[in-house]
Amino acid sequence: GSKLVIKDLHVEIEGKEILKGVNLEISSGEFHAIMGPNGTGKSTLSSAIMGHPKYVVTQGSITLDGKNVLEMEVDERAKAGLFLAMQYPSEISGVTNADFLRSAINSRREEGNEIPLMKFIRELDKKMEFLEMDTNMAQRYLNEGFSGGEKKRNEILQLMMIQPKFAILDEIDSGLDIDALKIVAKGINEMRSSEFGCLIITHYQRLLNYITPDYVHIMMQGRVVKSGGPELASRLEAEGYDWIKKELGIED
Ligand code: ADP
Ligand code: MG
Ligand code: MG
Repeated sequence: GSKLVIKDLHVEIEGKEILKGVNLEISSGEFHAIMGPNGTGKSTLSSAIMGHPKYVVTQGSITLDGKNVLEMEVDERAKAGLFLAMQYPSEISGVTNADFLRSAINSRREEGNEIPLMKFIRELDKKMEFLEMDTNMAQRYLNEGFSGGEKKRNEILQLMMIQPKFAILDEIDSGLDIDALKIVAKGINEMRSSEFGCLIITHYQRLLNYITPDYVHIMMQGRVVKSGGPELASRLEAEGYDWIKKELGIED
């Protein structure tokens, strides 16, 4: 199995410290959820893992199977098996969804061992059907004019096609109606295997009614302040965050 290890991670944006020592360890086969109020640094954590240039790591480490992720370029991180579904996926005009997926898959394979076109098309058809996506989505430019829900579903299509070692899904549930939420959850659950680990970042407990995480972490003010099992998410749903603030003596 693989291991993604984050140790004492400190991250600044434009000179302001947002992450203040995050520790997290995810092994393949495990689903972790991070919950937390708005503005606590959840998206900052996912951007730092993927190497967004605006997010400056000032202290700590991120390793994937012992390899220093922080030394890798963004594309090297993807090749190493990391996948990020962004809270706000970007639109890329001129590149079709299918082209994007095929080059993403091939970039993780050896030269000369590219996925055969027919196999790719079969896989794509199968997965789009599984996610109840309109087949014309494959030939549309990446995310261009996609509705919020279509973008999120498309991120799950990418996940299922690329088959990364680890995925970080940042608010994959935001803006989804209940039917779309169920489909997104179905796709993520389909990824469950001993070869795959996942970090699900969410503001709401709702998604976790459909995906049962093995571990739940609560992030506040740039740190993971509490970790537990799925029952932690249920308690947050019922009682909000105040009890944790009280327990930990955190001021607003
Ligand atoms: P969350 O995802 O938990 O809601 P974020 O990681 O998006 O939180 O934001 C954490 C803090 O960092 C917030 O105070 C936010 O205003 C700030 N921040 C996030 N992104 C940027 C950015 N690109 N430029 C400046 N400040 C940012
Ligand atoms: Mg936010
Ligand atoms: Mg966020």
